[in-house]
Amino acid sequence: MDIAKLPKISLHDHLDGGLRPQTIIELAAEVGHQLPKDNALDLADWFSVNANSGSLVQYLETFDHTVAVMQTREGLERVAYEAVIDLAAEGVIYAELRWAPEQHLTRGLSLDETVEAVQDGLERGMAEVADQGGFIRTGQLVTAMRHADRGLEIAELAVRHRNEGVVGFDIAGAEKGFLPSRHKVAFDYLASELFPVTVHAGEADGIESIKDAIVSGRALRLGHGVRLVEDIMFSRTEGDTDLVVLGPVAQWVHDRGIALETSPSSNLQTGAFAELGDTMADHPFDILYDLGFKVTVNTDNRLMSGTNLTKELEILVDTFGYSIADLEQFQLNAAEAAFQGLPEREELMEMIEIGFQEAMGAS
Ligand SMILES: [Zn+2]
Repeated sequence: MDIAKLPKISLHDHLDGGLRPQTIIELAAEVGHQLPKDNALDLADWFSVNANSGSLVQYLETFDHTVAVMQTREGLERVAYEAVIDLAAEGVIYAELRWAPEQHLTRGLSLDETVEAVQDGLERGMAEVADQGGFIRTGQLVTAMRHADRGLEIAELAVRHRNEGVVGFDIAGAEKGFLPSRHKVAFDYLASELFPVTVHAGEADGIESIKDAIVSGRALRLGHGVRLVEDIMFSRTEGDTDLVVLGPVAQWVHDRGIALETSPSSNLQTGAFAELGDTMADHPFDILYDLGFKVTVNTDNRLMSGTNLTKELEILVDTFGYSIADLEQFQLNAAEAAFQGLPEREELMEMIEIGFQEAMGAS
């Protein structure tokens, strides 16, 4: 099956993790930022080697360079524009792009100006795709850094731009030691504004973090959430029946249909399921899908993981033998969980159903 041609939805994609290597080189030259490599091929290699090193320090260092070239209106606009073009080119019809405005202020932009610059880029991208007869819709997720203390300010920024492209709020950065409750004031404010929230949880920390994302954060989705599997008890009986018991957090996430924004390659690289093993086959994705959790497939950081949504789906097909109907279910899950109004989500679901039907008819 040609996965690139299928209509897809991307809910978890960091804007500062998806730059084109050549763009980094050009923007770095413009702002005088020193890069570790000076041509696009070597630089792409450098990103993937450091992201794959198993060292969190090296992994995070890769973002120093992408964030450094996204400090001007032009840089932010261009990166956002190119993200839309690249996503549309591989069949993404709806994407939520997340990023942390507070990290883009070193050259004098205000928080509001950064959000506007990104929105300009997204709109230029969407218009160009439409001009060429394609379709893509996008939304910004405004992220606050969980170790910093600007949660409320960033939440207010997100709400201020809710009618200008910002569709949700997220917290990112070091999960362990930085529970969502640290930003309780921000989350209380967002709840009072009825503003959608997703929280990185269950990636670098366990059940307590996931529970707090739901309780303190009122998260409608979980960024990765793969360690939810730690709240599921499996006992294999002598015969062939597996007894599965969901703990209270897993049960809640399951029964409420809270979507999990899993990102297979990234989850493997960051060791999110290291307790289970160190190959893709050890990813709990298949167990969670099988148990009826609302799993979605995402890229997290396309540049660092050298991936895109098509590749992530191919990896899952290769690893777990999924059919085209399974891939359709993942997209429908994502459409349902998108931070859009019900009519827009229904429209996306219809586009997915039509696109997959056509693909199945053709094969
Ligand atoms: Zn992420």
